Amino acid sequence: MRLYDTKEQEKLEVKPAASGTIDIYCCGPTVYRFAHVGNMRTFLLGDLIRRTLRAEGQNYRYIQNITDVGHLNDDVNIEGLAEDKILAQAKLEQKDPFDIARFYERAFHQDLAALNILPADAYPKASESISLITDLIAQLIYLGAAYQGADGSLYFAVRSFKSYGAISHNTLDQLRAGHRFDIDEGESGKLFHADWALWKAAAANREMTWPTPWGVGFPGWHIECSAMSLHYFPQGVSLHLGGIDLRFPHHENERAQSNVATNSEFVEQWVHGEHLLFNGRKMAKSAGNVLHVSDLVARKIDPLALRFLFLENHYRTQMNLTWESIEAADTTLKRWRKKVAAWPKEGVVRPEYLAKILESFSDDLDTASAMLLLRKLEREDSVSENDKRATFIVADELLGLELERAEVVEISEEIQELINERAKARAAKDWQRSDELRQALAAIGVEVSDGPEGQSWRTR
Ligand code: AMP
Ligand code: ZN
Repeated sequence: MRLYDTKEQEKLEVKPAASGTIDIYCCGPTVYRFAHVGNMRTFLLGDLIRRTLRAEGQNYRYIQNITDVGHLNDDVNIEGLAEDKILAQAKLEQKDPFDIARFYERAFHQDLAALNILPADAYPKASESISLITDLIAQLIYLGAAYQGADGSLYFAVRSFKSYGAISHNTLDQLRAGHRFDIDEGESGKLFHADWALWKAAAANREMTWPTPWGVGFPGWHIECSAMSLHYFPQGVSLHLGGIDLRFPHHENERAQSNVATNSEFVEQWVHGEHLLFNGRKMAKSAGNVLHVSDLVARKIDPLALRFLFLENHYRTQMNLTWESIEAADTTLKRWRKKVAAWPKEGVVRPEYLAKILESFSDDLDTASAMLLLRKLEREDSVSENDKRATFIVADELLGLELERAEVVEISEEIQELINERAKARAAKDWQRSDELRQALAAIGVEVSDGPEGQSWRTR
């Protein structure tokens, strides 16, 4: 499989790490609110990569973290300090911050399941990885890359890491002094403007804090991903994933921390998904145009319609979502399921289609081409329906659209009444009446057929 590497700015062959497996780390959600469908597009990226590797017969491992402490808000409170997103939400909902985190973490897993996203091998939580984090900070201090500021917080000394900026192609000279490229309120103790907090000293009454040799506090956001990826994949990471906004500063900071700690280029490839827009604007809580998986369910739209739509767009292009496009995807998805249910069994997979579909996935997830090919196959007269069915079903291991799922067709009470009446007429061997009812149902789009197990029906 080849994937575009943000750092090298070209497609590279995905290679196993020194461990012998393709070790993948994907930055996970901050669990202080429901994930929006933009977040889900980024999480789908990791699923599609794994499905492709699986189809290629490659071994992989996949870790995604849960940020449940230490991710600060962009907004500042009255003291001019950035607030922890989870603590702020806990205050708002008047709940315990850990309850808030667990609640939104559960919701995140439900959303993943609704989109058929393969689960990770582990979902380490920041709050349960504190000793990994403090051990790593101690190591960075020992290596001369971190220091304690006058405010008691611990900072990474960015000038100790010469290739800072290589992922996003920023250099320290380009980053103006005083330019706010990270949440630096409350980071008064740092010695250089581009340094960032690894551990924040906390006031005595703050919730979610831990004791350390350097005082009571809580971890910064960037350090948790380095600590977790080093813990799970000590021999290096093959692919590190996230949304494009994480490229800088989050991934630059992670790279600096992990590379210094291991004295190596710890991550082989950095892969980023582009943003999802809704009605032409970036989907963000602050923009007020956030869409959740539950909003689709409320409109009786299968969440997998969203997956269908994401597959039709390349992950590296900005994609604009509208209700019209979601509904169109839902219609096509239902049509495919109906056809798969109606097409006869015992066909053979057509390699000329399947091989091309896998090739498209393997070529930097060109899922859009794969979807076009399936639309072509759907219409292709020279391929038997049996073979179409077999090919669609095997392709679905890559697509994850549950094409074999029988649609629950909602029919009116009147139609159900006619169906029941026909079953009765048939049981009473009243063939004339049963034929009349069959025709009446056919006229309104319900096809009735008789088999050894009795009468069955489907909508056209
Ligand atoms: P968060 O929970 O805000 O830390 O975000 C989780 C993931 O979603 C990160 O990888 C972000 O880069 C990604 N993300 C945030 N907004 C969008 C968006 N509008 N479209 C696609 N991905 C996004
Ligand atoms: Zn991360």
